[in-house]
Amino acid sequence: MSTLREGAVEVVRRLRAGGFAAFWVGGCVRDLEMGREPHDYDIVTDARPEQVASLFDDAVAVGAEFGVVAVSSHGHQYEVATFRTEGPYLDGRRPSSVRFATAEDDVRRRDFTINGLLHDPLSGQTIDHVDGRQDIKRRIIRTIGPPQERFAEDYLRLLRAVRLAAELDFTIEPQAFRAITALAPSIARVSAERIRDELFRLLVAPGRSKGVQLLDESGLLKVILPEVAAMKGVEQPPEFHPEGDVFVHTVLALGHLRNSSPELALATLLHDVGKPPTMTREDRIRFNNHDEVGAQMAESICRRLRCSNEQMDRVVSLVRNHLRIKDLPKMRPAKAARFLLQPDAADHLELHRVDCLASHGDLSVWEWAVKAQQELAATKPLQARLLSGDDLIELGLPPGPKFKEILEYVEDAQLEGQVSSHEEAVALVRRVFPTGPRSGPR
Ligand code: ATP
Ligand code: MG
Repeated sequence: MSTLREGAVEVVRRLRAGGFAAFWVGGCVRDLEMGREPHDYDIVTDARPEQVASLFDDAVAVGAEFGVVAVSSHGHQYEVATFRTEGPYLDGRRPSSVRFATAEDDVRRRDFTINGLLHDPLSGQTIDHVDGRQDIKRRIIRTIGPPQERFAEDYLRLLRAVRLAAELDFTIEPQAFRAITALAPSIARVSAERIRDELFRLLVAPGRSKGVQLLDESGLLKVILPEVAAMKGVEQPPEFHPEGDVFVHTVLALGHLRNSSPELALATLLHDVGKPPTMTREDRIRFNNHDEVGAQMAESICRRLRCSNEQMDRVVSLVRNHLRIKDLPKMRPAKAARFLLQPDAADHLELHRVDCLASHGDLSVWEWAVKAQQELAATKPLQARLLSGDDLIELGLPPGPKFKEILEYVEDAQLEGQVSSHEEAVALVRRVFPTGPRSGPR
C-alpha cells in the first residue's frame, strides 16, 4: 500500500488535472513545516462538491452543508473541502451560514495562524496569508484576527489553543491567553462530546502535564473539571508526599506517564479526585476511602463527558484499584495472579508507577509486580482451562451459581501450581466439593 502522503499528492493531482485549484491545508502543512509526519491530510479546492465527486469513483458527501466530500486515493481516505467563508456566529458554536469563497477567505475563517498555511505538493510552494510560518518558527499560538472575537465565535477554540500548546510544546501569545482567561466560563456552552475529544487529545500528548497546568491557569479547568480544580491547595502528609498538595502530585504523575491511552491518562488525572471530599485531620491528614469515593466521582465525570461505557469502566476500575497494587506481594498468590492477568493489568501497573514516582519514588512493589507478571506470561500456555461447567455436570454436581465458585477454586489451585492436569482437577473437585452421585470416568 502506498503512503498516506502519496495518496494526498494524488488527490491534488487529480483535482488539478480537472482544471481546479487544490492545496493541502491546516495541521498537515504545520506538521510538515515542523518536520513532523502528518497523521492526516486535509485538502481544499475551488471545485464545488459535485465537481469533486465527479472526479473520484467513491466520493461521499460528509459535510454537505460545509461542502466537504470524502474521497479515497491509494487506499486511504481524505476530506476535500470547497474554499468557504462563514457568516456570523450567533451561538458561540457554529456559523449562521457558509458560502463558497476564495482560498484566502478559507484560511481566514480558521482558528490559529499555525493552522492557516496552504501547501501545493506539486510545486512544493507554501502560501502564507496569515504569517503562520513565522509563528511556527517561534512556536507561538496566535489567533487569526482579534482573539476575543475569534474565540467568541466558537468557544471550543479556547480549549483547542491549550490542547495545541500541550501537543506541540508552543506558547500561547499573551493577548490570546488573556482572552482565554476572560472567556473561560463560556466553555460550558460547548457540547460535552467536543470538549471530551479535545481533552483526550491533550491528555495523550507528551506535554499533558503542561496542558493541565494551562487549563488551570486559564480558568478552563474549574469549568470543565471542577473536581480536579478542587485538588489545588489540598495538603497531604509530607512524610508520604514531600512533593506538595494533591494537584501538584497529580500534575507530576501525568508527567511521568509513558505513551498513554486516553483512559489511562484520564485515570491518572482522576486517581486522587476522591481526596478533597474525604480529607480529615486525625492523628495525621488522612483520606479514608478516597479510592472508592474517587471511583464514584470518576464515573460521574465520565458520564458528563459522554465517554463510552467501555472507556468509563476502564477509567473507574483504574481509580478504584489504584491503592491495591501495593498490597499485591502480601496477597494470596492466586489472588495476585488474577489481578496481574486481567487485560488492563499493564495500565494498573503504570498508574502505580507514576503515582510512586510523583511522591516517595519507591518502585520496589512495581518491580516485584512486573517480574511476577512476566513469569505469569511465560507460564500462560500452561494455563489452559482444566475443567468446564460441562465437566462439573458430568461429575454429578447440580448446575447453579456455585459452578463459578468451583471453577475459580480450580483456577486458583492451578495458578498456585497445586493441579496441572484434568485428572488432578477432577480429583480436587471431588475432594473439596463432594456433592451428588459420582459419575463414571470419561
Ligand atoms: P491535527 O494535526 O492535530 O489534526 P489539525 O490542525 O489538523 O491538527 P483538526 O481538528 O483536524 O486539527 O482541524 C483541521 C483544521 O481545521 C485546523 O488546522 C484548522 O485550520 C481548522 N479548524 C478546526 N477546528 C476549528 C475550529 N473550531 N475553528 C476554526 N478552525 C478550525
Ligand atoms: Mg487534522
